[in-house]
Amino acid sequence: MTFYKDKPDEECGVFGISGCMSQPAAYETYLGLYALQHRGQTSCGIAVNSEEADIFCRKGMGTVPEVFGEAVMDSMTRSHPASCAIGHVRYSSSLEAQQDSTQPFVMRYAKGSIAIANNGCLVNADALRQNLEKDGSIFQTDSDAELIGHLVARQRLLKGTLEQAVQAAMPMMEGAYCCVLMSRSKLIAFRDPRGQKPLCLGKVGEAFVVASESCAVTSLGGELIRDVEPGEILVIGKQGVTSISTPKAEKGAFCVFEYVYFARPDSIINGLGVHEARYNAGRQLALEQPAEADIVAGIPDSGIDAALGYAFESGIRFAYGFVKNRYVGRTFIESDQMAREKAVAIKLNPLAAEVRGKSVVLIDDSIVRGTTSAHIVENLRRAGASAVHMRISSPPFLYPCHYGTDISRDDLLFARRQAAEHIRLQIGADSLGYLSIRGLRKATGSSRGICDACFTGHYPVEAGKSGDKFSKKLERL
Ligand code: SF4
Repeated sequence: MTFYKDKPDEECGVFGISGCMSQPAAYETYLGLYALQHRGQTSCGIAVNSEEADIFCRKGMGTVPEVFGEAVMDSMTRSHPASCAIGHVRYSSSLEAQQDSTQPFVMRYAKGSIAIANNGCLVNADALRQNLEKDGSIFQTDSDAELIGHLVARQRLLKGTLEQAVQAAMPMMEGAYCCVLMSRSKLIAFRDPRGQKPLCLGKVGEAFVVASESCAVTSLGGELIRDVEPGEILVIGKQGVTSISTPKAEKGAFCVFEYVYFARPDSIINGLGVHEARYNAGRQLALEQPAEADIVAGIPDSGIDAALGYAFESGIRFAYGFVKNRYVGRTFIESDQMAREKAVAIKLNPLAAEVRGKSVVLIDDSIVRGTTSAHIVENLRRAGASAVHMRISSPPFLYPCHYGTDISRDDLLFARRQAAEHIRLQIGADSLGYLSIRGLRKATGSSRGICDACFTGHYPVEAGKSGDKFSKKLERL
């Protein structure tokens, strides 16, 4: 048995809310996590604050509705009608320690309790962990969130306030992180100095919200205020929102793959709508990789926005080429007997009335492992398409990611092993064309400071390289 999967996965989404008056914070967090579900379906959790008692946390394996059924939410909101909460959704490619690593973590130490959740990956995690272990820290998991919790708690014993402890801990951490941290009296959010993962601030009624994507704010009927700045710490309490700036990196490194695939199209990141970025990429793709065809179709979901852009720029009619089965989820299992193309068609069936006898420009956002594309092309031909011109609205995915996605092994990268013509033959398309890196930068705003290392190999920070420097800093502190 194998699981149906042919795209990289983002590893997490975070959410925090403070100042809820009309609804319990746990319920608003549940809704916020629902909106962030695309960022992780392996496990999820919610921690609620209580000024009277200790922080309460509920978490488990599965999607938000699987972990937080009606009875669970009912009991949680009755027993803990708190005004502040944090939540987390997680994807994990590892089958080990999934239960233990489910976030948020609640940590109890000399100054009280904190709950913490993170999105991202520290490249100097091993060095930091070794130093803390030498000093007597004991870790339950290999999660960076737990590690960051230890760093902050340790600094809290030396500094005055929790936000000062966060400020002291941040220079020790290298890599990508976006954290929500909650004590019994406040919510703190902080983002790495390169701003590699998305994090925004919004308002829902009287409450302030921080979330990985603005779709979690607007889905709750709220308004996006702004992105949390790279290196910024936000402290949200009874007095409202206080911002503390820590040094930004010289150059930003926002993950361009958020625009390509990870984020929801209704989210706005760095002032640019994700739909707009994908639409721009589709327009640029039409200029760089024209094709003669009758219709343009996108592979749902993230290929659709780029297909609309391609159709607009090329003047070729956009058509819905597929019907997507909304009920095939993360647990869809292919039996060994089931033909792969049959499994693909169960998820994504061509709309024969649109494609029969037509030459089709088929748009996808990326080819990573390449296992599905051949079956989609094959199924389109079976439905009567006379030609299939595959166009990819990003460059070939050539290098592994070290910052919290699951593409981290070179041997998984299809495009690196094969020449473009070989890939075209393998997927059975009549032609194949990728968007250039210049085109992608143009579509997403090159001046914004982006990470595109999985396409270029230019890493904003190399895994392991900065470990020694930051370990020394830790020792000094
Ligand atoms: S390497 Fe790619 S997937 Fe990883 S953070 Fe950079 S752009 Fe995003």
